[in-house]
Amino acid sequence: MLQLDTRQLPARADNAVMRILIVEDEPKTAAYLRRGLGENGFVTDVAVDGTDGLHLALTQPYDLVVLDAMLPGRDGWSVLRELRRKLSTPVLMLTARDGVVDRVRGLELGADDYLVKPFAFSELLARVRSVLRRGPARMPEVVEVADLSVDLHRQRAERGGQRLALTPKEFSLLALLARRAGEVLSRTLIAEQVWDMNFASDTNVVDVHIRRLRSKLDDPYPTPLLHTVRGVGYVLEARDAR
Ligand code: CA
Repeated sequence: MLQLDTRQLPARADNAVMRILIVEDEPKTAAYLRRGLGENGFVTDVAVDGTDGLHLALTQPYDLVVLDAMLPGRDGWSVLRELRRKLSTPVLMLTARDGVVDRVRGLELGADDYLVKPFAFSELLARVRSVLRRGPARMPEVVEVADLSVDLHRQRAERGGQRLALTPKEFSLLALLARRAGEVLSRTLIAEQVWDMNFASDTNVVDVHIRRLRSKLDDPYPTPLLHTVRGVGYVLEARDAR
């Protein structure tokens, strides 16, 4: 269920109207945010679950997404993770607990700021304005590691100028490794980020995809970039030939 803002707003040539998507399942909170932000000159849409929220965020141009962490079905973390694979729209997370874990998780996944419930509207407004002033936290569009270049926005990768024919999963895996090049990533972390699995029970799927990725990324070239760190995980980096 969606509530779209269809009001006709006066055109403001000097300063475009800012559009905010609110993803919040609690009707009272959603109405309160919508009213308050509307009164302060923002155009708002409301989605009451994560699936609709993600769909809108990916298909409509928003200047900011206010995203509740606890949502029915697809939760806020999952929405954030999916959104960040494609777009750098600023995200203000609303979390229910003042947990360090939530905060770290949100910021790691690419939230721009977070606010713990319950909050005063004035506090939310201040955060919204500050995030909007900063603008989107632009991820680099192209990550380069030695002769590998990974274009995160166009979803394509080249090595030595040759396009790599990767499946979408292989690309997601490579994009994660490339964004965090030089950092050893555990199978559990990879499974969580690429397959959305929160458990370590079947990380075999990671090994299988790593093998397939390697056959395209490294096998045809003299120097491997994807390395296994025994007992820990995988790292993408250029290593000096010894
Ligand atoms: Ca909620």
